Amino acid sequence: MDVRPHVDGLRAGELRVSRCGACGLPAFPPPRVCPRCGRRDAAEWFTASGRGTVWSAAVFHRNYLPEHPAPYPVAVVELAEGPRLVTTLTGLPTADLADVPIGQAVTAEIDAHHEPPRVVFRPDPEGAAR
Ligand SMILES: [Zn+2]
Repeated sequence: MDVRPHVDGLRAGELRVSRCGACGLPAFPPPRVCPRCGRRDAAEWFTASGRGTVWSAAVFHRNYLPEHPAPYPVAVVELAEGPRLVTTLTGLPTADLADVPIGQAVTAEIDAHHEPPRVVFRPDPEGAAR
């Protein structure tokens, strides 16, 4: 799985994700074999809007990395274009994910202070849970 186009996109200020170039199935990170059409290494990259919704969320209570002290939220965000990203949420009032209902509209932000840069998602104040 080669995610260099994603990281290069973040360095350029864009959220680039993948889909199957043969059948269009959204899939990120790109699988070696498309689970729908079976094509190998057919990922094509595109720039997503950065809009999405919280598909699933949890709070991690274990420290894995010093730069991510527990507790911290981990979420699966479904982008408007279809791919789902395992990511983190920022701008929450507390670490209590009762504040982030499933379906909450979120917007991507690029954390350029992180190396490599990463994408995080902030609840959209205009977007109620859908
Ligand atoms: Zn496919």
